[in-house]
Order: sequence, then structure tokens, then C-alpha cells
Amino acid sequence: MTSVPTEHLIEATYLIATALFILSLKWLGSPTTARRGVFAGEIGMLLAVGGTLMYQGIVEYKWIAIALVLGSIIGVPLGKVAMTAVPQRTALSHAFGALCVTLVGTAEYYLRAPDVPPFMMGVLSMEVILGSLTFTGSLMAAGKLQEILPQRPITYKGQNVVNLGLLALAVVVAAALVRHPEKMQLFPVIVGIPLVFGVMMIIPIGGADMPTVISLLNSYAGLSAAAMGFVLQSKLLIIAGALDGASGFILSVNMSKAMNRSFTNVLFGAFGQEQASGAALGSEQARSVRSATPEEAAAILAAANKVVIVPGYGMAVAQAQHKVRELYDALTKRGIDVRFGIHPVAGRMPGHMNVLLAEADIPYDKLLDMDEINGEFPQTDVALIIGANDVTNPAARSDHASPIFGMPILDVDKARTAMVIKRSMGAGFAGIENPLYYLDKTLMLFGDAKNFAGAIVRELAGGRE
Ligand code: NDP
Repeated sequence: MTSVPTEHLIEATYLIATALFILSLKWLGSPTTARRGVFAGEIGMLLAVGGTLMYQGIVEYKWIAIALVLGSIIGVPLGKVAMTAVPQRTALSHAFGALCVTLVGTAEYYLRAPDVPPFMMGVLSMEVILGSLTFTGSLMAAGKLQEILPQRPITYKGQNVVNLGLLALAVVVAAALVRHPEKMQLFPVIVGIPLVFGVMMIIPIGGADMPTVISLLNSYAGLSAAAMGFVLQSKLLIIAGALDGASGFILSVNMSKAMNRSFTNVLFGAFGQEQASGAALGSEQARSVRSATPEEAAAILAAANKVVIVPGYGMAVAQAQHKVRELYDALTKRGIDVRFGIHPVAGRMPGHMNVLLAEADIPYDKLLDMDEINGEFPQTDVALIIGANDVTNPAARSDHASPIFGMPILDVDKARTAMVIKRSMGAGFAGIENPLYYLDKTLMLFGDAKNFAGAIVRELAGGRE
């Protein structure tokens, strides 16, 4: 038994942890306070784990210590992955969390069966169903993002019926268990079916919808943890799980909005599957593009009054943010108005560009969201696109046949001149052609983002670095 003073101490620790989680979410909402938000979340989690370890009901610390060491061995390298691999790393974290929830739920059932009250059996079922489908779903999402699995959606006739049927079957079996918790042979069914469902759920989703799916899986992981909180009677888990579930859901909705896609469409629409349409590969290939050297690009930039820089995934790959900062300095020193247009899904995770540009100390007030900057492009002399592709694709606005039709984009094609730094005519994440590159006003600046930006900076400095 836990003594009364220790119990109070644990409760107090949990209370502070809860407050820190809430503050963390609030602070994470703005780039200026995000660092504080991360720190608050970390301290909250430390307190939560520390408080839990004070329970005198813990039978043996040996296994916990072993698990801690094992977890750290896996966790430390995971924390050191490149920024570009953070989405798949996040998906893996969801998978681990969901596996943990499923295992705890399974252990709790077999410890308690056959006497499991209906409410307890209900939340236990929810815990393992959500946990199992999140486990395999997240592994699939990580595999797709890491390109171990094909990113292209795999679809077949009647797929949605099969998927929903599987989920419905799991729910029916769970309902049967609520009535008859002693039917222990049914329990593996409510773990097994969702494991299969998790795989089937992600197979038809591809390309540009993966970010939304990851935040949705985040939401499922949170809800399963909240259900586990009811099972283990832990208020902290209920609150933290609910916060996670709700914030993941809100993020998914916001991302769907940013891509102009309905939720059901994301989950059942098999987005990004068709390549061969309208502005697709091939139809544009016969056309020629205009390219320019760093010297020419520097001359055009130097003559501009207003420049909007649009960063994308390629800037992250090239780690070009510090060179971009130098370019920003060189241009502003000449009195040129330079701002950054940030698309909500540029890069490979929400806020990816903000993080990189903040790392390079670009002033926050120069970073404008898509809605703020789009009205400015017609008065912009040069839109300088650095490693962005899909988020600037005008086919999303005009080509009904395009797989990204309807996704709001940065209207760089409305600037007087568009210059695009990328290495080749290769496609972006959605795997489709970008008609922007073939416009008369567009100049392609072929090269690695860091090298090319560096070369422009040298040119602006008159050949000196
Ligand atoms: P894209 O993936 O559309 O395009 C990136 C471009 O960068 C490529 O066309 C590539 O062209 C270029 N590139 C790659 N490496 C370099 C380099 N070293 N130097 C210069 N250029 C380089 O990126 P966007 O940011 O425009 O769009 C993001 C896409 O990712 C969207 O489709 C979005 O839905 C998706 N997504 C977003 C997530 C998020 O949460 N933000 C998560 C997962 C996916 P080339 O090979 O010719 O150099």
C-alpha cells in the first residue's frame, strides 16, 4: 500500500504534470513560445513518470529499470534522426505507445477475467481496439514515409466496405465480451482484427495525405491511452490521453482544411493514386524550361524591390536554412523587402519550415502564413522558391484532373518572376508534374539548395563570400 503522505505527493506531482501538459500545448501554438512549450511538456512527463515510480504498490523495480534502459537504448538514437525524418519517427513513437497500451490492456483483461464489470470491459475493449489499429497503422505510415513500403495507394473495389466491415466486426465482438467477459476465447479477436484493420486502413492512403493521417493516428493513440487511464484508474492518463486525442484531432482537421480536403475524403479517397491526368508527367515533358545561373539570379534579385522566399522540403534536405539567412541578410542590406511564404504542409511535418528558419534566426515577423502572403504575390517582383514543389503547383487551382486539385497553394505564379532552386525536373512528394516550371516568367535554378543559395550570396557580395 502507498502511505497517505506519499499518496498526496503523487497526486500533487500529477496535478503539476497536468498543468504543464496544458501549458505546453498552449505554448506550442506560437513559434515565439514553442521552445518553452517543449520544455514544459518534458518536465510534465518527467514528473508523471517520477510520481508513478513512487507508488509503493510497485512489486519490483528490477523490471522497470531494465525497461528504462532498453527504452533509452531505443529512444536516444530515435531522438537524433534528421529533421526530415521526424514524421516517420513520430509515427514510430505512436506505434510504440499504442503497442504498450495494447499490451497493458491485454494483461489487465487476463488478470481480471472472468469477473470484468461491463464498464471496465467496455473501456478495456476500446483501449485494445484503438491500440492495436494504431500500432499497425503507425508502422505502415512510418514505412510509407521512409519509403520502405510503396507510397502509392493500393486500392481495390469494395475496399471501404471490407475495411468498415472489419472494424464493425471488432466492435460487435467487443460488445459480446462486455456482456460475457468470461468468453476468454473472444479476446484475441478484438486484438487481432484491429491489427489487420490498421494495415488495411493505411494501404489506400498515399502521397500528400500522410501528414493528416499521422496526426489522426496521434489522436487514436491519445484516445487509447485515455481508455487505459479508466482501466488503471489513473486520472493523469485520462487527462493526458484526452489532451493528446483532442489536439491530434484538431491538428488533423486543420491540416485537412489546409489541403482543402474533407476528413472522409482523406480516409477513403485514396488521394494521390492517379498520376496520369491533366498536368501529369509526360504531357509537359515536350515543353522546354528556362534556366539561369547564380550570377543571373543574383542580378534579378538585386534589381527587385520586393522578394518572397518560399521554402520547401528541398531546403530541409539540403540544410540550406543558414545560407538562406545569409541571402536574406544580403538582400535586406540592399533595401529589398524580403519575406517568407510558409505553406502549412511544406516540408514533411507541420511547422517544419518555421523550425528551420527559426534555427537560422530569421525574424518571426518575416514569416507569413499562406493566407497572409497570397494577396501579396501580384505586387511581388521575385518569388524565390527554394526546394518547394507541391505547395507551389498551380495545377491544384486549375486542373480538375490533378490529384492535388483543391489543395490551397502559394500563388507564386502570380509574382512577376518566379525562380525555382531545385536539382532537377524531378517531382515532389505527391509525385506529379508542376506546370509552374514551364511558364515564361519562371526561371529554373538547377542545383542543390545550399550550394545555389550560397552561390547567389557570393554573387551579391561581388564574388566575395
Ligand atoms: P515537395 O516534396 O513537393 O518537393 C520538394 C522538392 O525539393 C523536390 O521536388 C526536389 O526536387 C527538391 N529537392 C530535394 N532535395 C533538394 C536539394 N538538396 N536541393 C534543392 N532541392 C531539393 O516539397 P514541398 O515542401 O513543396 O511540399 C511538401 C509535400 O510533402 C506536400 O505534398 C505535403 O503534402 C507532403 N507532406 C507534408 C508533410 C507535412 O506535415 N508538412 C508530411 C508528409 C508529407 P529535385 O529532386 O529536383 O531537387
